[in-house]
Amino acid sequence: MGLIVQKFGGTSVSNAQRIMNVVKIVTDTYKKGNDVVVVVSAQGDTTDDLIAKANEINPNAHKRELDQLLSAGEQISVSLLAMGIEKLGFPVISLLGWQAGFNTNSIYTKARIKNIKTDRLQNEIEKHNIVVVAGFQGINKYEDITTLGRGGSDTSAVAIAAALNADKCQIYTDVEGVYTADPRKVKNAIKLKEITYDEMLEMATLGAQVLNNRSVEMAKKYGVELEVLSSLNPKPGTIVKEVIKLEKMLIRGVTKDTNVALISILNLQDTPGIAFKIFSKLSNKNINVDIILQSFGRDGTKDIVFTVEKENGPVAVELLEDLLDDCKVICNTDVAKVSVVGAGMESHPGTASKMFEALYETNINIQMISTSEINISVIIDSKDADRAVYAVHEKFIPNE
Ligand code: ADP
Ligand code: ASP
Ligand code: MG
Repeated sequence: MGLIVQKFGGTSVSNAQRIMNVVKIVTDTYKKGNDVVVVVSAQGDTTDDLIAKANEINPNAHKRELDQLLSAGEQISVSLLAMGIEKLGFPVISLLGWQAGFNTNSIYTKARIKNIKTDRLQNEIEKHNIVVVAGFQGINKYEDITTLGRGGSDTSAVAIAAALNADKCQIYTDVEGVYTADPRKVKNAIKLKEITYDEMLEMATLGAQVLNNRSVEMAKKYGVELEVLSSLNPKPGTIVKEVIKLEKMLIRGVTKDTNVALISILNLQDTPGIAFKIFSKLSNKNINVDIILQSFGRDGTKDIVFTVEKENGPVAVELLEDLLDDCKVICNTDVAKVSVVGAGMESHPGTASKMFEALYETNINIQMISTSEINISVIIDSKDADRAVYAVHEKFIPNE
């Protein structure tokens, strides 16, 4: 018995039957004597559909209006889920982000949670209500609705678990846990029993969308142990925590990220301060730069190549063309980042060459390489990305 936070993603609540399936999981947990806070996402593809509707009318609309619109998706699911719980005779109340006390900053569409004022939540729990909270949304100091970025309901769930000091935080989704690669793409992917926060954070940041990376960051910060499991086939999933049992796995997973644009600046004057000028111009516009590569100078010029999020590609080119009038700036969005992640590689030389061998054997050309203590990433053509994930996965985690 205790306080349990359960989060259900879009597929888990996509129609009436799925909602009643969630009602069963939630009420079974409540019947065992637990207090339950449920966090839900918008149904199915609702968020994508709302974005498409907005783009039809005005693709350059103020992001405040976009957040006003997108928050409607989660508003639909909380009320429907509450109606389903009520139907089975359990006490329930649904709350939107602002009603649940989610205060955020004002970066519309990518807001960060500043704090959760938990009075209302606690009040409802004391009344023994099952509390159904809209994920992905909050309110800023102007009392305007904000959203937390795509996949943000995971963060809402972890934030509530941290704020209420919950005993458990379960992330129910449409796969049975965290796998060594996307199980929908790689049929030999293996479900992990456990994964550390650090490895999960890398995997999420590098494209494993099963958990939003901010949610993992927050779980680590506040020591919230997570379980990722299936709402359709409930059985033990994957536990995400600080320290896990030693396993003989060199790598924990292979990921793919197609949200990448590669910017090349060619024939740049090789003068001191130029890199500072370029990257400060981008950071002033909140453009995050990922991998950076600089060529050796030749005849007084050099090339700088780097990656940004796909949506920032055109803006980055525009800014740099303004700044640098005598060189060529090119943006390539047909690229992907494929990575291997695992704490085991720190103590095992040869991980990089093994990855490169898999790509060589599959005839895939590497455009850029970057490494950290627990990951190796390559930038390749997006058309090769799925083949690359498959080949690299086979190399490290062969079919048993
Ligand atoms: P939800 O709607 O429940 O939040 P998401 O679609 O955001 O679900 O995330 C679940 C999806 O993440 C799965 O359907 C799967 O295709 C994808 N995925 C990508 N990489 C992995 C991985 N390594 N392990 C598990 N799922 C993964
Ligand atoms: N509905 C939002 C999205 O599709 C938030 C979430 O699902 O976590 O991104
Ligand atoms: Mg998600």
